[in-house]
Amino acid sequence: MKALVLEDYKRLVYKDVPLPETGPEEVLVQVKACGICGSDVHGLDGSTKRRQPPLIMGHEASGCIVETGSHVNGWQKGDRVTFDSTIYCGRCFYCRQGFSNRCEHGRILGVACDEYRRNGAFAEYIAVPQHILYRLPEGLSFEHAATMEPLSIAFHGVNRTPLALNHSALVMGTGVIGLLAIQALRLAGCGCIIGVDVIPERLKLARQLGADHVINAAGGDSIAQVLELTEGRGVHVAIEAVGVTETIELATRCLRKGGSLTIIGNLSPSIQLPLQVAVMRELSVFGSCASSGEYPACLEMLARGSIRMAPLISAVAPLSDGGKWFERLYNKEPGLMKVILRPDQQQ
Ligand SMILES: [Zn+2]
Ligand SMILES: [Zn+2]
Repeated sequence: MKALVLEDYKRLVYKDVPLPETGPEEVLVQVKACGICGSDVHGLDGSTKRRQPPLIMGHEASGCIVETGSHVNGWQKGDRVTFDSTIYCGRCFYCRQGFSNRCEHGRILGVACDEYRRNGAFAEYIAVPQHILYRLPEGLSFEHAATMEPLSIAFHGVNRTPLALNHSALVMGTGVIGLLAIQALRLAGCGCIIGVDVIPERLKLARQLGADHVINAAGGDSIAQVLELTEGRGVHVAIEAVGVTETIELATRCLRKGGSLTIIGNLSPSIQLPLQVAVMRELSVFGSCASSGEYPACLEMLARGSIRMAPLISAVAPLSDGGKWFERLYNKEPGLMKVILRPDQQQ
C-alpha cells in the first residue's frame, strides 16, 4: 500500500509500505480521509520528540472497513467508521472508571515516542482495534468525519468547564480547537463569548462562527476590553487553546472572582502563572486532555448541522501531495486551518 512516511525529521516520503496485519480483535480500515493535526506539524522537526522516524503519522481519520479479525463482533465490511485517536486498554483502573483518556497504557495513533511506537492513518489502510470504532451517521462525509478528533477535544474542554446558562466565556486562541470551542460554548448556553487571537483572519472567522466579540491581543489592552464587556468583573470561564505563558497569563487575568480556566493548549511544557491573581480571586484551573466519551455527541451534532465544520477546512488534497501541505503548514501560511488528505485521490 501507499503511505506518507516520515523517514527523517522534516522529510516526508510518499512510498510503498507493507499492508498492516489485522489482529483478531482488529478491523482493517481503508482510509478515506485523514486530517493534519497541529501536533503532527510540530512533531515534524523533532522538537516534540513525539514523532520519531521512521513513522506514518495521522490520528484524525475516517474510512471503510475492508476486513474484520476473527474475534470482531458487530462490525462488517463496508461499514463507514471513524475511531478514537488513542488506543486505550479498557481494563486499567482509569478505563474502568470511564476515563479512557487517562488510560495507563494509552497509545496514540501515528505517534512514536520513547515509550511506544504506533503507525497512523496517512496511509491507504490502517488496522485498529474494534473497541475504539464509531459508526458514521448517514450523510456525514468522510472529510467531516475526519475532524471528529479535534471536535471531541473542544467538546471535552467545554465539558470539563463548570458552566451555567448565560455565563460569559473567553476563548484564547482561535485556531481549529478554539473555533470549535466557541461553537460548543454557544451550544452549551453561554451568553457573551469573546474570542482572542493575534491573527485578524482567525478573529473574523471567530465572529462568523459565534463569538459575540473578538479582541486582537496584539492591539492594546485586552484586559480592559474584557472588563468593559463584563460589567467590570471579567468572564466566568476561559478556555485556553494555545499554551504559552503570555496567553495563559492573559486568560487568567481576564477571569472574574470565582472564575475558572480550562487549559487545552500545551505548547510550552511549563509556564508562569500569576499566582496572586489565582489565589486571591479563588480561581479554578482544569486541565483537559483528548476526550473521554464525547465522540457520539460530536458525530450526532455535526451530522445534525449544529456544528459548522466547512469554514475550518482549508483544503482537501491527495495523500501523495501531503509533503507539500505539511511544508505550507510548517511555514505557518496565513489563513491555513485544517488540511485533509485523501489516500484514494490521485494527484
Ligand atoms: Zn490531533
Ligand atoms: Zn486503560
